[in-house]
Amino acid sequence: MRFGFFNFDFFNFDFSVAISCLNYLPMFYHVKELQFNARVSKPDPRFARLLLEQFGGGNGELKAAMQYFVQAFSCKNPYPDKYDLLMDIATEEFSHLEIVGATIQMLLTGVNGELKNAANSEDIMQMLEGKKAKEEFIHEAMINPQFGVLSGGGPTLTDSNGNPWTAAYVNANGDLTVDLRSNIAAESRAKIVYEYLIKFTDDPYVKETLRFLMTREVAHYQQFEAALATIQPNFPPGVLQSDPRYSNLYFNMSTGTDARGPWNDGTSTQLGETWQFIEDPLEAVKASEGLINREPEGTDRNEKSVQKINKSLSEERSTEVLTATPQEDIQWSTYSQNGNTKRKTK
Ligand code: MN
Ligand code: MN
Repeated sequence: MRFGFFNFDFFNFDFSVAISCLNYLPMFYHVKELQFNARVSKPDPRFARLLLEQFGGGNGELKAAMQYFVQAFSCKNPYPDKYDLLMDIATEEFSHLEIVGATIQMLLTGVNGELKNAANSEDIMQMLEGKKAKEEFIHEAMINPQFGVLSGGGPTLTDSNGNPWTAAYVNANGDLTVDLRSNIAAESRAKIVYEYLIKFTDDPYVKETLRFLMTREVAHYQQFEAALATIQPNFPPGVLQSDPRYSNLYFNMSTGTDARGPWNDGTSTQLGETWQFIEDPLEAVKASEGLINREPEGTDRNEKSVQKINKSLSEERSTEVLTATPQEDIQWSTYSQNGNTKRKTK
């Protein structure tokens, strides 16, 4: 058989190649293997509770997954490269959520089975040897009712204190220079929570998994940082430039010894203006009638140059989005538009 420019030999064809091509499915699907081989040495309900922080907590994996997932939608047409990045990392965060959930489940091994033995209330106590162990178990159930009384020994979508996960954790503001910075901050927080968690377990298998998850956040941090750098200019976040009368002022809002550093001395990090240290803010405010009459100092920027950038950058960013987005017969996927359904025309 001959297809196009290559010979197709059905009987000697390597089907594993065809199957690996099919692995690229344009939709979500579940692969049964975890991204990382999560293991635990033995059950540990106490650490399971702490680990909930990364399952349903404010800096956890579900927050990360949902944040990047939600941010991605507005990028689909104008910034397909960022759409791809955000969707890939969002999907990896779901893989992390699965690893964390699986680890919590393994750390709770035995709890659900014992609770299911409902007819024998003595049984859960019998698996614990000695009075002290029983007292500890009861204490654990008292301070941590999720596993014992609510979930029956599985992960719950809460943080380690039982606060339910909320969409309020998700930051998506429809501007990549803002969203990518939110993501760099989110990765920093996820990283440090893993770093703290590692100190609370002696299990080498759990440490190994946490180290993997922590490391991936370090990778994501740099990926978001690199993506931000491809957008120029990316400071200040958004489109409108800052008012040159106020962009380089440092208000000395305290008495006593004043700390000086590159945040109020020398040149500002992004705009390259000279910091103006306002020794006496009250006097400066009064003298300028509430800062209205202040003139720009220590900067090459002025109102005219600012308005010029505002106008050109507005046009550029607006055109970027509008030209990339069809106004009618809008379709998310890339199928041909020759489907059976005919659009009503006016
Ligand atoms: Mn993660
Ligand atoms: Mn991450």
